[in-house]
Amino acid sequence: MSLRDRVNPHIRDLAPYEPGKPIEELERELGIEGSIKLASNENPLGPSPRAAAALERAVGELNRYPDGASFVLRRSLSQRLEVRPEQLVFGCGADEVLELLAKTLLSPGDEVVHAWPSFAMYPIVAKGMGARSIQVPLDGALCHDLPAMAEAIGSRTKLVLLCNPNNPTGTSFGAEAFEEFLAAVPDGVVVAVDEAYMEYARRRDWPDALAACQRRPGTIVLRTFSKIYGLAGLRIGYGVADPELAEYLQRARHPFNVNRLAEVAAVAALEDDEHVARTRALNAEGADYLGRELAALGVETWPTDANFLLARTGPAVYQRLLQEGVIVRPLHGFGLEDCIRVTIGLPEENERFVKALRGIREARA
Ligand SMILES: *Cc1c(COP(=O)(O)O)cnc(C)c1O
Repeated sequence: MSLRDRVNPHIRDLAPYEPGKPIEELERELGIEGSIKLASNENPLGPSPRAAAALERAVGELNRYPDGASFVLRRSLSQRLEVRPEQLVFGCGADEVLELLAKTLLSPGDEVVHAWPSFAMYPIVAKGMGARSIQVPLDGALCHDLPAMAEAIGSRTKLVLLCNPNNPTGTSFGAEAFEEFLAAVPDGVVVAVDEAYMEYARRRDWPDALAACQRRPGTIVLRTFSKIYGLAGLRIGYGVADPELAEYLQRARHPFNVNRLAEVAAVAALEDDEHVARTRALNAEGADYLGRELAALGVETWPTDANFLLARTGPAVYQRLLQEGVIVRPLHGFGLEDCIRVTIGLPEENERFVKALRGIREARA
């Protein structure tokens, strides 16, 4: 029997996640320098200075295992979010919390309902457990079609994943649509709301998904320190669940899944309201700037509540932008061949992107 035959079929058939390449690797491949990366929705202002200072102080303690219960972070976050400490589950990125959900809930043949195009990890996490990923197309405005998602729930559905705002479109749904959706979901089906970018959202009727976790068993909100908090490199995210679901997820995790530096930095970043506010303001300005400039170029964009923009630039623009030293995210794997996703950067980065795009379009005209 070959190794191939021994590997679980659902792992053997898995197409791995394609991350945005590190800037250094792309520059080596293309033989260019001085490029900018607007591909992975990172905070262009960097980490909070408070987090950086806390990290320096913590380095001397690295011989010690982390606090497996994340006591300090748990206390701080539960006060801030006004949830009970036992509702929090921490992970090596929100990605790990997604995996804990999958490991806790899914067996081969089960179904996970999620929108498509949406976060590329959803089908991977489902298929990694031998479950089926049921992909419900976004509606005509590239928003979650929540009524269709409720319809798609069947007897094998264990988990529904909502992404708000949605990656890679930036579109969002509001409170009323969310409440109607929840009312239509059968008891016992776990509803996870992935709010990786919610701190950037500007729509006024943002759903109170945390409140839903307080009243509906089997509800969880996913959040992360990777995006607005600028700590993507440290890998820390969390879930806020109803206490019973949280307790099962705790059983599924490794005792030291969150490393010592990540916890220390997260505590400090959480207290740095100024860094968060600065990032939000910069992002809002950048979103408006890019929306205006792309409209002037005749490029369609979608309203965004996140730190990135979906833009219909026409096909093959990703490669052309690369040659100009501007790295964005191509979306061919999502059925959006003529679109790119661009992270909103510093003003000078946004300007460089617009200039490069203008040049490419003029050369084609
Ligand atoms: C970035 C992202 C995450 C999680 O990121 P981590 O770095 O693993 O915390 C989760 N969901 C969506 C939609 C994301 O874009």
